[in-house]
Amino acid sequence: MATTSLSKKALGLDTREPAIAPPKLNPEKALKKPKLNLSRGHKRDIPEGIWTKCPKCDALLYDKELDENLKVCLKCGFHFPIGARERINALVKTCSFEEMDADMVSVDILGFTGVASYTSKLANYQNATGLRDAVLTGIGTIGTQRVALGVMDFGFLGGSMGSVVGEKITRLIEAGTDKGLPVIIISSSGGARMYEGMFSLMQMAKTSAALAYHAKKGLPYLSVLTHPTTAGVMASYASLGDLILAEPGSMIGFAGPRVIKDTTQAELPPGFQTAEFLVDHGLIDAIVPRPELNAYLINVLGYFMEGFRKQGVLA
Ligand SMILES: [Zn+2]
Repeated sequence: MATTSLSKKALGLDTREPAIAPPKLNPEKALKKPKLNLSRGHKRDIPEGIWTKCPKCDALLYDKELDENLKVCLKCGFHFPIGARERINALVKTCSFEEMDADMVSVDILGFTGVASYTSKLANYQNATGLRDAVLTGIGTIGTQRVALGVMDFGFLGGSMGSVVGEKITRLIEAGTDKGLPVIIISSSGGARMYEGMFSLMQMAKTSAALAYHAKKGLPYLSVLTHPTTAGVMASYASLGDLILAEPGSMIGFAGPRVIKDTTQAELPPGFQTAEFLVDHGLIDAIVPRPELNAYLINVLGYFMEGFRKQGVLA
């Protein structure tokens, strides 16, 4: 017959009592990187999940340090993709984020058929990402300011905007309008979601109209563009910010270069769809590296909300 302790052991639970005074952790030792064998004549063996190679500068980056730097290369500043939850955790005060419409899911309204059904695609992405759709929305605190914050995740069907993304963004903006809060949306999207056809395109008008009502109250909307922000999202709420920021090196545009070239019959300047080109030409106000975004937002929210604070009408 199995005793309690045997059962615990079988379950992998440690039954030992903890030491009265646990040994102090040496932070230097705790952060000690595993040795990487790069001796000549041996194939470079990079253990997965410990080191990541930067695609821009080829530096080998220790994953723990890369995560602590919000997935920005410590050598050259290359911005790796980052998930919506990680972004929110990095931006808002701990435990201050109250998610909205967390259970909203898309339906296959067109009965879309293809290599795989839309329903099965949605299920696969939901399992792989732990998200219900391509945006997380909610109210959280940045610095001392409550904000309505929406963060898109490119990892969910290319950050595409279907009816759920559009509806969640719209409800977020409306909550900001009702509560007198600034809206911040961090975009990352390949555009409208083709599996929902016209229903996706309608989200462009809906989100833009909600922003117009938000602006009527004199409340600020800050749009942060990340790699890539394109097509229907760029042609609606992503480009309507009172202040438009972008992460360095982001690809930003509406249509692809070939389509633009064929339509305009014009020679396109090199790098015309990068954040750096667009800040030089006035579409974007500033390029802000990811590790500096939190401090930057606190600063500009302070300027934007000062008038409301003086009137004593802030939530
Ligand atoms: Zn790098």
